[in-house]
Parts: sequence; structure tokens; C-alpha cells
Amino acid sequence: MNDDSVKRDQGTPSARDVIARDRRYIWHPYTQHGTEAEPTVIARAKGASLFDAEGREILDLISSWWTCTHGHSHPTINAALARQAEKLEHVMFAGFTHAPAVNLAERLASLLRADLNRVFFSDDGSTSVEVAIKIAYQSWVNRGEARRRMLVAFDGGYHGDTLGAMSVGRSSQMFGAFRDLMCQVCILPYPATFDGDDAADEREAGALSAFDALLNERGATIAALIIEPLMQGSAGMRFCRPSFLKRLVQAAQHAGVIVIFDEVATGFGRTGTLFALEQAGVVPDLVCLSKGLTGGYMPLAATVARDRLFDLFIGHDFERALPHGHSFTANPLACAVALASLGLYEEERTMARIAHINSRHRAIMRTLASRADVTKLRVLGPVLAFEVKEGGRYQSEASRKLRTWYLANGFNIRPIGSTIYLMPPYCITDEELDRAYAGMVEGLDRLASGDLSTP
Ligand code: PLP
Repeated sequence: MNDDSVKRDQGTPSARDVIARDRRYIWHPYTQHGTEAEPTVIARAKGASLFDAEGREILDLISSWWTCTHGHSHPTINAALARQAEKLEHVMFAGFTHAPAVNLAERLASLLRADLNRVFFSDDGSTSVEVAIKIAYQSWVNRGEARRRMLVAFDGGYHGDTLGAMSVGRSSQMFGAFRDLMCQVCILPYPATFDGDDAADEREAGALSAFDALLNERGATIAALIIEPLMQGSAGMRFCRPSFLKRLVQAAQHAGVIVIFDEVATGFGRTGTLFALEQAGVVPDLVCLSKGLTGGYMPLAATVARDRLFDLFIGHDFERALPHGHSFTANPLACAVALASLGLYEEERTMARIAHINSRHRAIMRTLASRADVTKLRVLGPVLAFEVKEGGRYQSEASRKLRTWYLANGFNIRPIGSTIYLMPPYCITDEELDRAYAGMVEGLDRLASGDLSTP
């Protein structure tokens, strides 16, 4: 160790020092380091707020990439994490098991519908999707129907950044560089809708008839269909109706196609019910969960399969088994945290809090509706979204300037291209929501007047 590192290790480094070393050593996600402004150093967080190194408050209005549910640094979850750390921090999960994983799997099975009972743990949203794709694909191999190789996904869908997940999210236009590495995927139109949309029926009929045509032409070669139920997140909070989802799932399952619901973003209350699938009244064959699973505390994911899919992997030779696993599969700390987080939904009447946020969003939506620069207003559960006319594309200069202005003024609001949205942690107070709405509107006014200068 040289003198410098000894000094650093002995005290809290200053924000300037963290930034200087960040610039030297860190490669950030989804970041063009050639144009991006300096990152903000976050020193602590509580409830709906982040605090930077100088103690300045930033309202976390997108729940830190949609992970934080009950709020940052929740005492119940903190205590569960500390208790588990005293007992067992980790053990490999092949040939071993432990109570936190079993309790969590049992709890998830009881919360999901029908025979969605088999839980395969992995690390994050992308890996939960990767696992779902592999289960779906191999289930056909195990059945001796290896002709079913094709995957079906939706225009604008996003499912993560690993290879299989990128393939089914290929239409998101973020993955051009990797096109040649991707597997076969057929993309269907997505019937995105909003408040007062009078073409919703027509758009849904178009998407369903495109799917029907595909089934007629190549149905026997389709292994699985994947969708973000009710809300495409990364595409810009694009909503679809439960009735569409229901008809889609019925058509797919009737044709023997395995249905994967990617509830990585929609799970744990983000659409107003614990899972989006509840509103459609259907039972998919596989469900992917992550993000809110641990209340936003730790990386953990689950791919939940129906019993009959699991049964297809049982036999006497390893070839039938699922050859997949991660070093940190079912990490006990993450499982204990997830259990504590799930307990809070009852203890804190979380679903009622979400309904309250929804009604506040609906009220502000009526005010926003009178603005000429705002279109396609929509609200689902705790999510408020709309398009701004001057917003530009993903990471466009206009959207980056707006994000920078929001951050400089104490709001973590990250426009996705021309979409502005709020998805706050469920603990947000009325006063914080008032502040959020006022700040959001001031940002819009400044965008309209061309004055997004920051101090
Ligand atoms: N699926 C959906 C619907 C997502 O929104 C995301 C991330 O935003 C993912 C998968 C990937 O999750 P992760 O970033 O944890 O890998």
C-alpha cells in the first residue's frame, strides 16, 4: 500500500476525490463517457430521498431504476439483513439449501397464481429472462420437439442486456452492434395506449391479427412468447390493456406456445396490483421477477415456472436437467431481505399507499392535460407518464439537458427520449409529491422557454 491509499482508507474521501478516482477507474452503465457530466456522489439515502456528499437532498422519483419500493434504508429491511449476516452470508446452492431461499420460494408461489410454483433463483432481471428463455427452449428439446426454436417478442420490448435478453429486446434499437450474435426472434406490433386513446381497439386488433397470422404460418416452430405485461418500461412506460394481454395469452397457449411474463419492472406493485398478471386474469407459463423483489436492496432474481414445465426436466440423466446456475444463486442475505420486503406489503398497507399515489397522479394529470407541449398522458398504479413535444430521442441533447436540470434542482427524473415519467418509492409523502409535481412542471416550462441553464 502506498501512502496515498493508506490516507484514503483512514477517512471518508471527499466528493471531489471520489469523482476524480471514479473518472480514472469506473466504466458506468449506459453512459457515453465522452459527453456525460460528472456523476453525483451519493453518500446516503432515506425514504424517498437520496443525499449527496454535501447533504443536498435529491428526490428519487424513478426509484433508482425502478428498484426501490418501500423506500431507502428501511429499518425493517436493515434489521433483517443484519440478522441474516450474523447467521449465514452465503453458501453454494447446488447440493445445499437454506431456510431463507425455501421460505422465499414458498412465499412467491403462494402470491402467484395457480401452479406457478417452481422458483429458479438468479442474480438480476437479465439473468431471470435468460433462464426463462433457456427453460422454454429446452422444454421443447426434452419433449422431442426440437423444431420449436423461434421466440416471439414485442416492438419496443426490453428484457435486459445479456445475449438472449438482448435478442428478445432487439427492437429497442439499443443493440445494433450485437445483431449478428442474436438468436431468431419474431417481433410483433405492440398496442401502446394512453388516456383518451380512441384507436386502442384498432391497434389491439392489429397486434392480435399479426400474431394469428404468425401462428398460422409458423406456429409449430415457435418455442415461446415474451412480453412485459401491461407496461413496457424502457420503451418509455408504454401501457397496454389487460384485455389485450388476456386475448394474447389465450391465443398463444391455445397454439401450445410457452408464455413468459417479464415482470422484472412490473412486479411488486408497479402496475397497481402486486403482479401485472393479476389484472389480466391469466396464468403465464414462466414469470421473471427482480428489481422490487428485494425492495431494491440487493441483486436477486427469480424465474418462476409452472409445475408441468418443471416436470419436463425430471429424469435419470443430466442431459434432461437445466444446465444453468450462478455463484450467488439464492444468496441468503438477498433472500432474507426479499422476505422482509414482502412482509412490509401487509404491515405498511403498501397497496393502499400505491392507490393513493395513483389518485394523486390522476389529479395532476388533469392539470397537465391543458398544456400544449404534453401529449399521451397516462397513469398506471404508481406510474405517471407522458410525452413532451420537444423531448428528442433516447439520450438526445434535449433529454440530457432536462435530466441535468432536474438533478441540479433536487429531482432524480430521467426522461426516456421524449417520455417523462414519475415512479416514486411507495413511501413518498404528500408533501414530497407536491414538490415533485412542482419541480417536474417547472422543468417543462423551462424546456418550453429554452432556459434549462443550471447553476
Ligand atoms: N426486464 C425488464 C422488463 C426490465 O425493465 C429490465 C431492466 O430494466 C430487465 C429485464 C433487466 O434487468 P437488469 O437490469 O436487472 O438485468
